[in-house]
Amino acid sequence: MSVKALKGFKDIVPGEVETWQFIEQTARAIFHRFNLDEIKVPILEKTKLFVRSIGETTDIVEKEMYTFADRNGSSLTMRPEGTASVLRAYIENGLQSKKAVQKLYTIGPMFRHERPQKGRLRQFHQMSVEILGTDLPRVDAEVMAMAWLILKELGLSASLEINSLGCKKCRPAFNKALLDFLGKAENLCDDCLRRRETNPLRVLDCKSAHCQEQYEKAPSILDHICQSCADHFQAVKKGLDLLAVPYAVNSFMVRGLDYYTRTTFELVTDALGAQSAVGAGGRYDGLVAQLGGPDVPGIGFAMGMERLALLLDQQEGSVPVATPDLFVVALGEAAQEKGYALTHAARKAGLAAIMDLQDRSLKNQMKQAGKAMVRFALIMGEDELSNGKAVLRNMANREQQDISINDDVATWATELYSLVIQ
Ligand code: ATP
Ligand code: MG
Repeated sequence: MSVKALKGFKDIVPGEVETWQFIEQTARAIFHRFNLDEIKVPILEKTKLFVRSIGETTDIVEKEMYTFADRNGSSLTMRPEGTASVLRAYIENGLQSKKAVQKLYTIGPMFRHERPQKGRLRQFHQMSVEILGTDLPRVDAEVMAMAWLILKELGLSASLEINSLGCKKCRPAFNKALLDFLGKAENLCDDCLRRRETNPLRVLDCKSAHCQEQYEKAPSILDHICQSCADHFQAVKKGLDLLAVPYAVNSFMVRGLDYYTRTTFELVTDALGAQSAVGAGGRYDGLVAQLGGPDVPGIGFAMGMERLALLLDQQEGSVPVATPDLFVVALGEAAQEKGYALTHAARKAGLAAIMDLQDRSLKNQMKQAGKAMVRFALIMGEDELSNGKAVLRNMANREQQDISINDDVATWATELYSLVIQ
C-alpha cells in the first residue's frame, strides 16, 4: 500500500503552483515598494514561546498546536503563526539596535490541528508583515493599505474591517462591562461558558449563531476605550481616508490571539464560505517586552495563501502564465549534437529553452512545442546543417524565417536571444 500525505497536508503541484508563484511574486514586489526587509525564521520553536505570546486560553494554544517532546524531552511546537517567531528573532538578534524601526516580512508554512475543509488546512501558508518600533497611527493605516494593495494587484477584492481593542489600561473596564452582560446572557454554548471564566473577550468571536444573536446587544469596546486609544483610532481612520482605502468599523471583531492591543483588522470576503478572512492583523504593543525584549510597539498582519489561491482560481485568467521561449527541434544525430550545445548556450544566454533529446520525428517535436506553448521553434535537420541555415518559427503567427547557423553556439544563442526576446 502506498503511503499518503497526512490529512490536512497538501501538495501544491504543477498547474497549481503557478498561482502560488504569482501570489508570492506580487507580494514580494509590494513589500519591496514599502521598504520591508525579508526575515526567515525556523518552523520549530520552544512551546513556551507560543504559549506566552498567543495566550494560554486561545483556541490555537488550547487545541490547535502541533506540540511534541523532542528526543531529549523538551517540548517543541511547529509554529502556528509567524509573529511570535519573528519577535523572538528580533530580540535574539538585537535587530532594534540596527534600525529604530524594523519593517519585516516572512513567507512560509504554519501548522494548526484544525478540521480540514476548503480554505482550512493543517499545514497552511502565510505571508506576514511585522513593523516594530513605532506606534504612529499612520503606520497602522499604511500597513492596512499595503495588505489592501496586495489584494488589488492580485486582482482580488475584499472588505477591510477595523476595530480598536484598547490597551492594558482600558481593557479591564471593558472586560468588566462585558462580564456584567455575559452574567445575564442565557443559554450560551459550552465554549462561551468556558471563555466567560477564562478569557471573556474571546466570546465575541464565537461562531454559534445563537450566541452571536445575543452578542448583538453586548457592550461595544469602542465605548470603553481610553482617550488616548480613542485618539489613536481616530487618527488611524483619518490615515485610511488619506490613503483612500475604504473600511468599515466592526466593534465586535476581537481576533483569536491575546496579544492584540488597539488597532485590529480583517480582510473579509464572502466568496469562500465559512473561511471568510483572507488576511488579518493588528497592533501588539507590549508583546516584545513580554517576550523579554525592549519595550517597543509593533503591528503586523498575515495573509492566508491558500485562501488567496482559491479566490484566484475562481477567477479564470487572472494568473499570468510564463511560457518557454524556445524549442530546439533537432532532427538526426548531427543536428542533435549541435542542438544539444545550443540549448544549453541559450539557457546561459537567458532563454527558457527545451529540446527533445530522443530525436523523435518533426511532427512529434512540433506537437511537443505546441503543447509546451513555446513562443518560438528553431528547426534544423541534415539539410539545414549543410546549407548553414536553420528555420525560426514564431509559433503564434506561424511566420518563419531562415537564420544563419553560427558555429559558435554562444554567439548564436545571443543572436537568438535578440530575435526571441523583443
Ligand atoms: P479563521 O477565523 O479563519 O480561523 P484566524 O483568525 O485563525 O482565521 P489568523 O490566525 O489571524 O487566522 O491567520 C491569518 C490568516 O491566515 C487568516 O486570515 C487566514 O487567511 C489564514 N489561515 C488561518 N488559519 C488557516 C488554516 N487553518 N488554513 C488556511 N489558512 C488559514
Ligand atoms: Mg482559526
